Amino acid sequence: MSQTFILRDYQTQAVEAALKHFRQGDDPAVIVLPTGAGKSLVIAELSRLAKGRVICLAHVKELVEQNHGKFLATGSAAGIFSAGLFSAGLGQKNSTAKTVFASIQSLSANLDAFHTPASLIIIDECHRVGMDESGQYHKTITHFRTLNPKVKILGLTATPYRLGSGWIYQQHYHGYTRPCADSFFKKCIFELPLQHMVKKAYLTPPIHYDAAIAHYDFSLLTESLDGEQNTDDIALNELIHKYPRVTKAVTEQILQLSQNRQGVMIFAATIDHAQEICGYLPAEQTALITGTTKIKQRDALIAAFKAKKIKYLVNVSVLTTGFDAPHVDVIAILRPTQSISLFQQIVGRGLRLSPGKKDCLVLDYTNNGYNIFQPEIGEKKPTQDSVAVQIICPQCNFANVFWGRKDSAGNILEHFGRRCHGLIEAPDDAASPEVPNGPKYETQCTYRFRFKHCPHCNQENDIAARQCQHCSKKLIDPDDILRRALNLKNNKVLRCAAITPQIIWADKCLKITYHDEDGLTLSETFRFNYKNSRQSFNDLFARRIANGSQSLQFNTLEELEKFLPYLPAPDFVIAKKQKHHWQVTERIFDYEGPYRKANELG
Ligand SMILES: [Zn+2]
Ligand SMILES: [Zn+2]
Repeated sequence: MSQTFILRDYQTQAVEAALKHFRQGDDPAVIVLPTGAGKSLVIAELSRLAKGRVICLAHVKELVEQNHGKFLATGSAAGIFSAGLFSAGLGQKNSTAKTVFASIQSLSANLDAFHTPASLIIIDECHRVGMDESGQYHKTITHFRTLNPKVKILGLTATPYRLGSGWIYQQHYHGYTRPCADSFFKKCIFELPLQHMVKKAYLTPPIHYDAAIAHYDFSLLTESLDGEQNTDDIALNELIHKYPRVTKAVTEQILQLSQNRQGVMIFAATIDHAQEICGYLPAEQTALITGTTKIKQRDALIAAFKAKKIKYLVNVSVLTTGFDAPHVDVIAILRPTQSISLFQQIVGRGLRLSPGKKDCLVLDYTNNGYNIFQPEIGEKKPTQDSVAVQIICPQCNFANVFWGRKDSAGNILEHFGRRCHGLIEAPDDAASPEVPNGPKYETQCTYRFRFKHCPHCNQENDIAARQCQHCSKKLIDPDDILRRALNLKNNKVLRCAAITPQIIWADKCLKITYHDEDGLTLSETFRFNYKNSRQSFNDLFARRIANGSQSLQFNTLEELEKFLPYLPAPDFVIAKKQKHHWQVTERIFDYEGPYRKANELG
């Protein structure tokens, strides 16, 4: 069997990673490849190598067709006879071929037609498995698992993270964990960064043009309860109409900057918005595609765009995936993009190689400040000025990437990481003894950068934990502590804006004075010649210096002295009235909740 296609280095690596993983076990695995990396070739090669039947699933007919086409094009002579399509949209229902390329809708509605077991199920755009509300993927997987409990499941995606639904896998082969306990996929076994693709000239370089004439400030959008930006059309239209001149100015700039360009894709926020944009563009060279565009018309418009009969293609949330027009050399983003992955996916539409194309102009009018090559952090940007920072774990040395803030010189001012994402080998007793030669049992590093102490066992827990993970006792919610203290006459709650630490050498103690915004103070002392007092200082303050990125402990005041300016301030301090003074009883750090913190607007 001759193979006329030569896989690129990383495609071979991806295939090998899958083979190696499935030789060791049956856990569903994910391969992350950026848009344009040639996923369909990886799929074709794996399908060719698989001994048993392969079912290859995708959610749109274009992808089903594309994957099938690539499989045939790889030249495996038997392919033509052994590969089949199962998709109502493509008018074909071949359920018996060795490799079936199927649309998930058609296949899950016709499971009865599939009664021979499969050895491998490949899911393209597999981030949809978790978002699959009607359960088509789960129904299908359950069906094939009944036929063969050991069926291997491999997902491919360019976007393993989505705001709202989160990470789609739990462990990464580079040795770290993702905070998602119940994702369907267990492990990411291969990932290729976009940067590698550009560096090796598999993609054209993006030129990030800082337009800066005008922006939409999508950060003004209110957030719904699940932390997703409220991106419904009404809110978006309101926001866009707040800036009546922005759309016109932005469109004029796009026109001007695209003069010598071949194909321009414009991502609009709403249909109203898109129509307004189209109004400023030359009508005979412009097309608009939205979710309500009829399929026939959509296909015709896309064909005209690919043939360069239309230069400007405006769309509203339909062309982010499964659309491929290599000549596109301008991407204009006028819609909110809630995650870096989504931003990169949109930019990816313009990075395909094409004759006469040197680069792709990226015009970002959204003020997101996203970097095309930045790794996904997997959390919403906590502040407008947040950037990705690298924080080394003092316990396992893993290089975490968290959101953080830097000063103008590039020094890290703070970071927002909570727990180390490093993967470490679990202690022996945690390994499953029944598989002595199985893969090593790996677990997430226990180091926490931000934490709250359990009042019962003094162990550290996540700042949002409701129950101690060590002793299982209930942790008191900081809001309850605050509410209670505010209601008690002999309690005082200080909204702490700053602290003044002062060593009193004569008494071998450290005095910490807490200040609120109005100049009120509370204070307490830690006596360093008493072990308990010293420990309590270390637990409260030393452990939190530089957001826990150092893990410091001090045994003497001399050691502590030079670190005094770096002691962290709590958000709230609670004190109880004694006979002659106020006794500090609680210091609440890393507070997240409804009560206003110092230096925050009310
Ligand atoms: Zn660690
Ligand atoms: Zn506890």
